[in-house]
Amino acid sequence: MKVNQAEFVISAVRPEQYPDDALPEIALAGRSNVGKSSLINRLIARKNLARTSSTPGKTQHLNYYRINDEIYFVDVPGYGYAKVSKTQRAEWGAMIERYMLERVGLKLVLLVVDLRHPPSKDDISMYEWLQHYNRPICVVATKADKIPRSRWQKHIKVVKETLNFRQEHQLVMFSSETGMGKDELWSIIQSYTHE
Ligand code: GDP
Repeated sequence: MKVNQAEFVISAVRPEQYPDDALPEIALAGRSNVGKSSLINRLIARKNLARTSSTPGKTQHLNYYRINDEIYFVDVPGYGYAKVSKTQRAEWGAMIERYMLERVGLKLVLLVVDLRHPPSKDDISMYEWLQHYNRPICVVATKADKIPRSRWQKHIKVVKETLNFRQEHQLVMFSSETGMGKDELWSIIQSYTHE
């Protein structure tokens, strides 16, 4: 997709703040630092629209980015984020759950994992949870540039086995550094948003 316009819209802490213009939404879930903001920046070919982890704060918000007045990317940061209290974590979990289950505009969840390592417990729970509720999922294994090409398939196998990956879902190998997987991911996104 040719991105002509991309803007940060809101860092929402409450559902009333979610945009109400009914554009399709693509959510990105994954642990802090896995590379969600970098992935958004690479997809929209902007250096730094989505905040990367070096920017503090915003870790417990839904960050909305509007692309071409056509879709939203919604960065859902924070699971596995250590520096919050149990109560905060529970509140945040409830907000994510509500968003994932009830948001009508949500068309696809990108579950972003690190290709270098087996998915974490949190990744596995998120994958199982999304599956249980029959949410549309695409797993994105990012940071592929950090692994030699000869080992890609081996790492993909570990990611799939650890997640107990289901063939009906899609999996894209990605690198925000090189742009690998960008076209494939866009075409998957478009297949879910242009129904
Ligand atoms: P977020 O917390 O999930 O939004 O993660 P960020 O996008 O902020 O990325 C965390 C760190 O990983 C940053 O230092 C990024 O530069 C780095 N990073 C993210 N994606 C990639 C990638 O595909 N390749 C490489 N080499 N580094 C990456």
